[in-house]
Amino acid sequence: MFRSRHLLNAAVKKQTESAVAITNNILRIKLNTSAAVMTDKFRLPARYGAGEKSVWVEYIQLAADYKPAVNLGQGFPDYHAPKHVTKALADIATSDNPLLMQYTRGFGHPRLVQNLSKVYSPLIGRELDPFNEILVTSGAYEALYSAILGHVDTGDEVIVIEPFFDCYDFMIKCAGGIPKFIALKPKTNKENMTSADWVLDEKELSSLFTNKTKMLILNTPHNPLGKVFTKEELELIANLCKKHNVLCVSDEVYEWMVYEPNKHIRIATLPDMWERTITIGSAGKTFSVTGWKIGWAYCPANLMRNLQVVHQNCVYTCPTPTQEAVARSFEIELSRINSPECYFYSLARELLPKRDFLVRTLKENGFNPTIPDGGYFIVADWTNLGKKIDLSSEQDKYKDYRFTKKFAKEAGVLAIPPSAFYSEQHKTLGEDFARFCFIKKDENLALTEKLLKTWNASK
Ligand code: PMP
Ligand code: GLN
Repeated sequence: MFRSRHLLNAAVKKQTESAVAITNNILRIKLNTSAAVMTDKFRLPARYGAGEKSVWVEYIQLAADYKPAVNLGQGFPDYHAPKHVTKALADIATSDNPLLMQYTRGFGHPRLVQNLSKVYSPLIGRELDPFNEILVTSGAYEALYSAILGHVDTGDEVIVIEPFFDCYDFMIKCAGGIPKFIALKPKTNKENMTSADWVLDEKELSSLFTNKTKMLILNTPHNPLGKVFTKEELELIANLCKKHNVLCVSDEVYEWMVYEPNKHIRIATLPDMWERTITIGSAGKTFSVTGWKIGWAYCPANLMRNLQVVHQNCVYTCPTPTQEAVARSFEIELSRINSPECYFYSLARELLPKRDFLVRTLKENGFNPTIPDGGYFIVADWTNLGKKIDLSSEQDKYKDYRFTKKFAKEAGVLAIPPSAFYSEQHKTLGEDFARFCFIKKDENLALTEKLLKTWNASK
């Protein structure tokens, strides 16, 4: 009896223990499964890649952390936009018209698209239909997004010229497309190189066009090199686009920053290119108000319809007050379009001495800068300074990231690493360089000179 009760107790205990073990296992499995489900289910979709921080996110944080004495990194002016531009926004903010604070037309505020038509129609030699051939977007970023997402299908190939504004690659992949890269390469290694010395290889470019090619993205004036594509270079691109029935997205946000004797040529104006070109601009660059985030695209109505589909469902409409302010700013510039006072021309005049000053400063301090024909960036080879700087404390994969970070800490001058503007397979092409922005107050450029001299003297 006792023995059998004992056996029974033992059996019950064993059963209970195994029940507990089973429950624990189930719980563990459940927990593990739910942890696995959590991590798996909520991971970044594979089409976005590994999800690294963009160079902008990383370097704006660096600027906040290191507080370099001068920030020549991200491209924006550190001084005021023209008075009439900021005044327009101030007037709108206090206007009696309550509708200026409400949604406006989704594809572009009427007063703005009408003014964009007035600005661009004479420049492209055709009457732009403000309501069917122009789209106002959330910065040029969204114009690129709508142009790419509105046309690129799964498996389509898109030709991208390196170095390239970094979001092109992401947007193409986001649309299911395949970027095909070709790098601009320096013809020579001489001193006093200009951005015109960076060229495309004609054979290599031709070989990238296949029956899967949907689009080519052009950027002139170019970020970061400042290259202003010549008529011959644009003709080469245009002829290939026509031969292979390919669209051209032309990112022209720096259209007004071109230094004499160079001329900005809009590829949409070349023979039979209007039909296949989407041109992109930015109020941030045109009026030195990068924080307003107003951009636009113009193209034939049949292509525009595809951009509108993306825009109407992703953004719908851009802020009314800033669109109205950009419209009023264009009206003022249009009223003095033939005068040298027009901001479209005075901006480049204002920037030229800044460019020359920074080129000279960089040269005198051991860099080998490429003199830009347009835009507001200088790409400079830093490798002559390699002996003076110990990069071993920096962890980044690419030398230009290590250089720009260490240089910001030691010299107090922040620049951007150009390998961010290359595809993974070509990043080494950017590693010997740093990009400096020169749309900065003269006193900050003078301070840059002082800091570079002090750094060199300390070595
Ligand atoms: N394209 C290029 C070449 C740029 O440098 C930039 C940065 N301004 C953009 C597009 C995006 O412009 P936005 O600030 O108007 O979105
Ligand atoms: N276009 C600017 C540059 O190249 C800013 C880019 C950005 O902040 N995303 O520096």
